[in-house]
Amino acid sequence: MRSALTASAAAAMARSLAIVGNRILIVDDKPEVRESMCDYMALAGFVAESASSAEDALELLKHTDVDIVITDIVLPGLGGLDLTRQVKKAHRADVIVMTGYSDNFSYEGAISIGASDFVVKPVRLEELLLRVKRVLRERELTEERNRMMEKLQTLAITDGLTGLYNSRHFYAQLESEVDRSSRYRHPLAMLMIDIDHFKEFNDTFGHLEGDKVLARFSQVLKSCLRANDSAYRYGGEEFTVILPETGAEEARTVAQRIRTALETEIFAPEPSRAVSKTISIGVTEYQPSEEMTAFINRADAAMYLSKQSGRNRVSVLHADPAASAQPVR
Ligand code: GH3
Ligand code: MG
Ligand code: MG
Repeated sequence: MRSALTASAAAAMARSLAIVGNRILIVDDKPEVRESMCDYMALAGFVAESASSAEDALELLKHTDVDIVITDIVLPGLGGLDLTRQVKKAHRADVIVMTGYSDNFSYEGAISIGASDFVVKPVRLEELLLRVKRVLRERELTEERNRMMEKLQTLAITDGLTGLYNSRHFYAQLESEVDRSSRYRHPLAMLMIDIDHFKEFNDTFGHLEGDKVLARFSQVLKSCLRANDSAYRYGGEEFTVILPETGAEEARTVAQRIRTALETEIFAPEPSRAVSKTISIGVTEYQPSEEMTAFINRADAAMYLSKQSGRNRVSVLHADPAASAQPVR
């Protein structure tokens, strides 16, 4: 196991591998193996730790964030393959397993339980370092890909101008909330919101100033909601809010809060102009077993009722028409 790696060559390799600071854990019951590997890995730029058993390794992993575990398969007590399984279940570390020539363990077996690589003893330290480098590269690529996927998933459900969820996500969320409400018989409410006379605002001050109103209104809207409520840009200057675990009366209170919050916002589309904008809101509660479209249409009808009654108001419509209240400010 003696290494021919000089300190400067190791340092150069460490820089090229960008491994400085990565934490590595060597698990082997033979002190001389642990020592030589730890020395070599430390020289290469790792923070190297060691454990003489799988049990000790698991104990160390409880409070130490390790990037790569290199473990012998044959250990006293818990074996290296069981250690691999447990590490993959509970930690973010990659595992490289080591086995002797005469041991009856397969590469496929180790990989199938989650090991990232497999080396045969006696291990050439230079080779082990290259394998560690490859595992780190793959891990970096995987993390990068996961970050990209997350970003893409967020983009796919977000409206670019307002930062609210888009209408595609609205339909998906409403479907699952309707499902939950039907199954557990929990109340579910919806708001349909439309900005009043928005065309006129655009025509007077320009589309860009209109965009600013949409963006600011979205912030106001979000600030009025509770943790479980979610807001969506339904289209153009129309917005929806889904309120799980909420009945019509409570939803009306939320709607009034949003209406008054926007009413008091001052927009300055031109230096000497102070303008306020208003919204018309429709509120309705989900009627068990009705179609999702009936629920949306009723919220829409409630919003139009607010428009017809003079705008800047909240109207509630119930599935049972006799229970529907008149629009109120
Ligand atoms: P009402 O009170 O009846 O809702 O009147 P309104 O003018 O708001 O309604 P109308 O449906 O006639 O016009 C909606 C306007 O919303 C027209 C359109 O230019 C504007 N709009 C839709 N999407 C956007 C957008 O992304 N940016 C801007 N600036 N305006 C938008
Ligand atoms: Mg509209
Ligand atoms: Mg409008």
